[in-house]
Amino acid sequence: MSFQISQAARDVLAAEFPLLIGGREISGRAGRVGVSTDPATGEKLSDFALADSDDIADAVSAARSAFSGPWSRLSHSERARLLRALAREIEAHATLFAEIEVLDNGMPMMLAEQIVANCVHLFHYYAGWAERIEGTTTEPPPHVLAEGEALTYTLREPVGVVGLIVPWNVPLSMACLKLAPALAAGCTVVLKPAEETPLSAVMLGRLINEARFPKGVVNIVNGIGSEAGAALVSHPDIAKISFTGSTEVGKTIARECSDSLKKVSLELGGKSPVIVFPDTDMSKTVPGVAMATFFLQGQNCMAGTRIFVHRDIYEPLLEELAAFTAEMKMGHGLEPGTILGPLVSAKQQERVMGYIADGIACGARLITGGEAWEGAGHFVRPTIFADVDPSMSIVRDEIFGPVMAVQPFDSDNFDEIADIANDTPYGLSGSVWTRNLSTAHRMVSRIRSGHVSVNCHGAVGANIPFGGYKQSGWGREFGREGMDLYLETKAVTIAL
Ligand code: NAP
Ligand code: MG
Repeated sequence: MSFQISQAARDVLAAEFPLLIGGREISGRAGRVGVSTDPATGEKLSDFALADSDDIADAVSAARSAFSGPWSRLSHSERARLLRALAREIEAHATLFAEIEVLDNGMPMMLAEQIVANCVHLFHYYAGWAERIEGTTTEPPPHVLAEGEALTYTLREPVGVVGLIVPWNVPLSMACLKLAPALAAGCTVVLKPAEETPLSAVMLGRLINEARFPKGVVNIVNGIGSEAGAALVSHPDIAKISFTGSTEVGKTIARECSDSLKKVSLELGGKSPVIVFPDTDMSKTVPGVAMATFFLQGQNCMAGTRIFVHRDIYEPLLEELAAFTAEMKMGHGLEPGTILGPLVSAKQQERVMGYIADGIACGARLITGGEAWEGAGHFVRPTIFADVDPSMSIVRDEIFGPVMAVQPFDSDNFDEIADIANDTPYGLSGSVWTRNLSTAHRMVSRIRSGHVSVNCHGAVGANIPFGGYKQSGWGREFGREGMDLYLETKAVTIAL
């Protein structure tokens, strides 16, 4: 692999990545340290401080003081000004952010650059919402107060101190898409990044200080999920948990929050359908379907991994998908032209290879891929299985790796097609590929998912509500609904 790490990145990586608590960069109380590695080479990148439950308690306490202190005294427009200042700080450090994200997570540089640009946009977008938080006026209760004798209105108030828990697949993006609306709403936060990818959040914390947010508004604590994450979820001063990650951990968190009746929103797994009709434009469908599965090496909750193709174009599409996939350059994310990086860890690679072995053992037809790369990096070749059936684990389970499962359909009945597409406990995303507008609309209305695309896949953005039906989660992030996750409504009646 031929790639170069910039001097700026080397300088950042040279020092231990600290915790950010109450505006101060510190080590954990117990002095525990984790090691972050480059998943493409297996080499060490840097040490980072690991929080334990005492550090979490400190972080929550700092967030609580900031919530009742300086942060609550800022006007909405002052909050918006700070969000915009942070956006500018991120923009000014965009290249370094993207490089650190590539090194820590493995994603290709081109993608990391787009993601950093999206994060800049997220803070500008939610700065706009901070200035537009408004209540309503309504009729006072008629049986209690005579008309003209009372005034009833609503206030939107921040939920309080929120705990944000994020996964490793798009680390900076996950942090920003929760931070921006939470801060716009007036909450203070404790953010726990994933231990596989601890670095970019710490850099973000530095810029939050540079942008002059009051101390303690944002606290960033790397730590182990079952320990630091669990301590955050169970802390009595946390008003709400916003979690993105696996359905399994999401269920554990929901159970814990139900005991204390904390508010909770969950963005969980997916196993999204991609439905290809025979009239589709093949020149757009082939790259579109390939990337629906292989984007981020399939480590993507929106990944379209169950591909349903009309029998008339089944074999030709398989052939073209295999040819397209063979041309996708796999390598270090900093190598020019890389489209596919490594998986995030040896554990993830092993898990994905296990599913591939199971697919082969169950008799699915292997069209391409199926192998890991030799060497220290955690690479898995993009893998396409055909002739799969719903009993196979490669069709049922979220693999979170570059594994596509393709099956034909013969029916022209939309309900029948929807039945097979919806045969999953998940409901996060999905796409329909056709030139016929009626086919598109009929199919979209039948897919049980929070997000459906036509002739593209996973087209998300700051203004577009995103979240799951069924076991893919609770609540919607992004857009106005993303703000609602961090706001309470208070109704007020004044007898005049
Ligand atoms: P995960 O194990 O659920 O971890 C997600 C986060 O939760 C990490 O920060 C993790 O910390 C923490 N955590 C783990 N156990 C916890 C506990 N008991 N209490 C509190 N926090 C805990 O997920 P993952 O395996 O890292 O990530 C891949 C999964 O995330 C996939 O299954 C995918 O479906 C899902 N995902 C969903 C979306 C979405 O938007 N719907 C987006 C991305 C990923 P550690 O890092 O220390 O384990
Ligand atoms: Mg994990």
